[in-house]
This record gives sequence, C-alpha cells and structure tokens, in this order.
Amino acid sequence: MKKKYIMSLDQGTTSARCVLYDREGNQVSMAQKEFRQIYPKAGWVEHDPMEIWSTQIGVAQEAMLKINATCENIEAIGITNQRETTVVWDRETGEPVYNAIVWQCRRTAKLCDELKKKGLEAKFREKTGLLIDPYFSATKLKWILENAEGAAEKSREGRLLFGTVETWLIWKLTGGRVHVTDYSNASRTMMFNIKTLTWDEEILRELDIPACMLPEPVPSSMIYGESDPRILGGPVKIGGAAGDQQAALFGQACFSFGEAKNTYGTGGFMLVNTGKEPVFSGNGLITTIGWGIGDEVSYALEGSVFISGAAIQWLRDEVKILDNAALSEKMARAVEDTAGVYFIPAFTGLGAPYWDPYARGAIMGLTRGANRNHITRAALEAMAYQTMDLMTAMSEDIGRTIKAFKVDGGASVNDFLLEFQADIMDMPVYRPECIETTSLGAAYLAGLAAGYWKDTEDIASNWRLEKTFMPSMEKERREELLKGWHEAVRRTLGWANI
Ligand code: ADP
Repeated sequence: MKKKYIMSLDQGTTSARCVLYDREGNQVSMAQKEFRQIYPKAGWVEHDPMEIWSTQIGVAQEAMLKINATCENIEAIGITNQRETTVVWDRETGEPVYNAIVWQCRRTAKLCDELKKKGLEAKFREKTGLLIDPYFSATKLKWILENAEGAAEKSREGRLLFGTVETWLIWKLTGGRVHVTDYSNASRTMMFNIKTLTWDEEILRELDIPACMLPEPVPSSMIYGESDPRILGGPVKIGGAAGDQQAALFGQACFSFGEAKNTYGTGGFMLVNTGKEPVFSGNGLITTIGWGIGDEVSYALEGSVFISGAAIQWLRDEVKILDNAALSEKMARAVEDTAGVYFIPAFTGLGAPYWDPYARGAIMGLTRGANRNHITRAALEAMAYQTMDLMTAMSEDIGRTIKAFKVDGGASVNDFLLEFQADIMDMPVYRPECIETTSLGAAYLAGLAAGYWKDTEDIASNWRLEKTFMPSMEKERREELLKGWHEAVRRTLGWANI
C-alpha cells in the first residue's frame, strides 16, 4: 500500500511553503520560496497573484519530488494563507485585473475614515466583529473596482470574481471550477456576517460591491473539489482552508473554550477559542471565526501586536548591538534584570489593546550603568508584557482566566522569553514540539475532511509537549514590573501627534 500524506500549502506574506505531513503530524518533506513584494508608493503593498500561484505550485511539486511522492501519496490538500489580501480576476480569462492588495497596505485609510464619519463603526462591528480599518478586504476590493480599468463595469456584468488568497488558490487548483472561501477567511473581509454566515447585503450596498463576484462561504474542513490532474500528475482532493492565525489555533489543538495560543513572529498574534458563540470585546480585540466544521462554527477573540520579534531584528539590523536573534537569550541572562530599563516597541503605533497609531517607540529608564544586555533584555521582556496585555483583555472579555496558554512562532525558541512570560502572567506556558503550527493546522483541517484523522481527539493526541515553563516570580515583584511597563507605555501614547 502506498504511504499517504497530507499536503499543506502555506501561502505567507513573503514566501510560499509546502509541507507534507504524516499521520503523527511529522514533517516528511518541505519546500519554500520567497516571492516579490511590490511597493508602488509609500504605505502601499502589492503582490502579483500569478506569482503567488506559480511559487505555491512550484514548492508543492518540489516537496513531492524531494521524497519521490506522486499524487497517489497525497491524501488531501489543506491551505493556509496570509489573510485579508484581496484578489480580483476575470472569470473567463483567469487574468487578475489588478495586483493583489496586501493586508499591510494602507491605501484605503481615507475611505475608512469616511465610513467612520458616517457613524458605521458600531454596525460594522456588530455584523463582522471587526473595526473599520484598511487592514481588512472590503475597502481594498472597493478600491480595485474603482481604480482598475473597466473593473466596475465588468463586475456589474458578472465577469469578475473576488477572493482572498485561499479562494484564489482553490480556484486555480481546480482549473476555475470552484469559487469558495472558508469561514475563517471570510470573517476577515469586513463584508461577512459572522452570525448568519452570509455576505452582508447592507454592507455590500454601502460599499457598492456586487454580490455576484463573491465566493460561496463554506466550512474550513470539507472536500471543496479535486485539483486539475495536470497540476500534480493526477487529481487530489482539496479538503480544507483557514487563515494563518486561525490555522495556528487549530494546529495547537485549542479546541475548547478558553484555550489560547500566542505566535511570536515579526508581530505577535494571540487568539483564544470562545466556543460556539461570538464574544464581542470591550477591550479592543477583534471577534473572528476560528473555523467551521460541518454545521458547527468555533469563534475566537484575536489581539495583535505589531512589533514583537521585530524589536530583536531592529536591535540586530539597525542598532547593531547583537549579531543574531538567538544571542538575545544569552545577553538577557547575562544580567539580573533590566536595571529599570523598559523598551516600548511602538514603531508603528500600538495595536490591541491600546490602538494608538500615534504612539512611538521608546527606551526608558536609562541610567549610566545601562548596557546593551539590559536593553536587549528589555526588548524580550516587552514581547512578554505586550502578550500579557492581550491576555488581560481576553480574560476580561471572556469573563474568566485563560485555560491553557500555548506558544509558537520563530521567537518561541527563546527560553528566557517564555520563562519571563510565565512569570509575568503567573501561569504556565506550554511549548509544543512543532512550533510551525500554521501549516500543521491546515493539514489537520484537510485530513479531517478526508478521513485521514478521525476527529479532533485524534488530532489532539498528536499535540506533543516539548517544554512547560512554570511561573516562579513573587507577586510584589510582578506587580512592580507591570506598573512600570504600563507607566512607560502611557508616556509613549500620542507622541507623533504633539
Ligand atoms: P514571521 O513568520 O512573522 O516572518 P518567524 O515566526 O519566522 O516570523 O519569527 C521571526 C522573528 O522572530 C524575527 O523577528 C526574529 O527577530 C525573531 N526571533 C527569531 N529567533 C529568535 C530568538 N531566539 N529570540 C528572540 N527572537 C527571535
């Protein structure tokens, strides 16, 4: 009998990856390729949708070739993707009418201000769970319709299709036969009603977006169709899709209410599973769909930190006080504490729970004895403080303490960071063996639909703990440090506006 794997396509912001997983959740093959970032103007970010497709399919073929796998070795394909990024293409020719507008792109800031001025914020929030912000897809789509040549007319004639990146990949993989979006991705568009699981007609009318161009919203784990046989040498089932952060929550097996994960990457993303009902935040968090399986939807609260591991990158590349990111741990341990130094990495303002675009970065509390070890340690501690702030907001919103806190992402290899995280939150921090939970989560969603894994219990038994970090800090010390952090944050707020 042929050995079977699940193929996970991980379409990120800077690179496309493909990982083949076995039943135990081990990576048996991996290939990765970066693609072009296009910056037409300050604050604008685009990708070429055709390049997204070609790099993604290139790494899929490469990952198979590395272990001499054929399509018969692939049980199903799962997809995870950069969220919110918007693609519009011609349904007949398959040609995009404009580049993909990337989630980071701020070109629709004015349009969002206008929507806010009209007093639509509360309504949008109640329906979509989101704040009105250029980050989400809706205003990007409107921009393309208004600015790509002939797009508005063609869209009214039903000749154009819209999709987030998983929609685009599924459409291409199936040779243009399947036009769907999974609930988790749909919930990032600012057009999707997260309670009724349908496109919101009132929002579509407000933004003048024709419903006929929107994909059909479907669960995150289900057989959407089969790949065109020419792509992988034969047809393969496409069994699931989810946005990257939701896929990571699934990959961390956070299946029940109150289970949370935090990803320490360039930025930081914390999500907590809030079960079968959406929870609306009083603390600046976003309400989103985690995933849909069968008739059931799991909701999540999400908080994002703009600069997390990127602060270490900044110390390395700009300030040049460390040679590589891994060295930050040794440097932090070389001193007993930060000597009163706080590092607030508000380089691009502050995200949840502060939401202040005018805050700016600061290193505070410097004295004559402060050295680069103290500053580096303060940068790592800031990653933990910011996560702590999200944790406090989430606990308040869900009305109880978080049940389990799991971590992943590139910077989660740093033991000092996780020890300090456990101390400052006064709760255990769990690091799994696999910290690449995004692609794993997509594989699980697809494997579940294909019967490769039986149920979520079967998947949860694959989650293997690598290390637990237990808190050991005295209460007084913790409170003193947190007080200093909050005071330091307060002094950075509004800085760019004075
Ligand atoms: P992303 O997927 O967001 O691009 P990764 O998950 O690969 O990022 O994580 C990379 C980030 O983690 C970088 O910002 C880097 O500075 C940081 N990082 C990597 N290793 C360490 C480490 N040992 N300690 C602290 N930060 C680290």
